Amino acid sequence: MKTPKKIAILGSTGSIGTQALEVIRSHRDRFSPVLLTAHSNVDLLIEQSLEFQPEMVVIGQESQYSTLKEALSGTGIQVLAGQRALSEAVACCDATFVLTALVGFAGLEPTISALKAGKDIGLANKETLVVAGAMITEMATKYGCRIIPVDSEHSAIFQCLIGEEEEIIEKIILTASGGPFRGFSLEQLKSVSREQALKHPNWSMGAKITIDSATMMNKGLEVIEARWLFGIEADNIEIVVHPQSIVHSLVQFKDGSIKAQLGLPDMKLPIQYAMAYPDRVENSFPRFSFLQYPNLTFEQPDFQVFKTLELAYSALKMGGNASCSLNGANEAVVDLFLKDKVHFSNISNCIEEAMTKVDFHPEPGIEELVETDRLARIAVSEASKFFI
Ligand code: NAD
Ligand code: MG
Repeated sequence: MKTPKKIAILGSTGSIGTQALEVIRSHRDRFSPVLLTAHSNVDLLIEQSLEFQPEMVVIGQESQYSTLKEALSGTGIQVLAGQRALSEAVACCDATFVLTALVGFAGLEPTISALKAGKDIGLANKETLVVAGAMITEMATKYGCRIIPVDSEHSAIFQCLIGEEEEIIEKIILTASGGPFRGFSLEQLKSVSREQALKHPNWSMGAKITIDSATMMNKGLEVIEARWLFGIEADNIEIVVHPQSIVHSLVQFKDGSIKAQLGLPDMKLPIQYAMAYPDRVENSFPRFSFLQYPNLTFEQPDFQVFKTLELAYSALKMGGNASCSLNGANEAVVDLFLKDKVHFSNISNCIEEAMTKVDFHPEPGIEELVETDRLARIAVSEASKFFI
């Protein structure tokens, strides 16, 4: 019997974080959460800490520190607060594997900190690879860390590539559900509501990624994520819309053979796979049956309607800090959309406009990335005033 793998979960109160804890709850002999972190949901963090008894917890919002500290007094759990504490805790905790289940640019610094401390990453936080793919993959090599994808498409590709070499890949085919507005025209997008955008047909996820799925920016970010995870150029990464979300993605090799990974749309599987890798662990999740899905269908994504796709491909091809501008602008505009300050049909316009306002850096370091992110957010707030 192996000793349990010590795991840090950054963003344990979110959609991925809570599902990771569900997996751990059924496999306490295999996984031991030693660090849990959250941004503001202190009540759930307290509940999780009392149940799982990690060594350490971090709450992002410092105003919640005393509530957390008081609730965990007498448990021996170390309590910290603030963004800097998050990076420090990741480095100094006992975990050998860090699940980055927090959302957005905020994932970058703790991921760097985990890599410098030689820890393997279970990467759900795709934004980190979008903003700093070159830097993060170089660091993973330098510090001898593995990056195991949690995103279902990338987990599928990762699984297809086991036993294969990257040099023999012809192309990667990322599947996309198409989101709630699949088949809509530009005209129809002008009258969609926030509630419709928040209703994903197949997946239940955090608000930011749900909106990204509705604009299809999520797939754009995933193209960039795939480029860095698998070392494949943008021209060899294709998107195909597959509304049933059963084929999670495919790899085509140089001899024309294609491998795919299939399963029901349930994030617990890729989460469990990443945490257990290289093992496969038994579970009682519902099984996929072809007979219940006799029609698996595939169609072209509409680049004219979902302009975020083109924006993501061009940012990737531009290189440097362009994807970081794209990501910062997207995070800011999604936030405005969720507050009803930008209409859905103007999301891509705001991003496109903001990206023209941020200076290009061919080889950004961490400081330039932080600055790019800041400027892209300011540019979106300006741009949003023109696109009401
Ligand atoms: P979520 O909004 O449900 O949860 C986010 C978590 O991050 C919460 O625990 C929150 O407390 C924490 N957090 C938020 N802002 C933070 C900050 N500034 N500093 C520190 N912590 C912060 O998000 P989610 O849907 O679980 O997504 C998490 C990540 O996983 C995202 O990058 C997303 O793209 C990716 N992902 C999610 C899914 C999914 O099914 N939810 C699928 C694939 C990839
Ligand atoms: Mg995905």
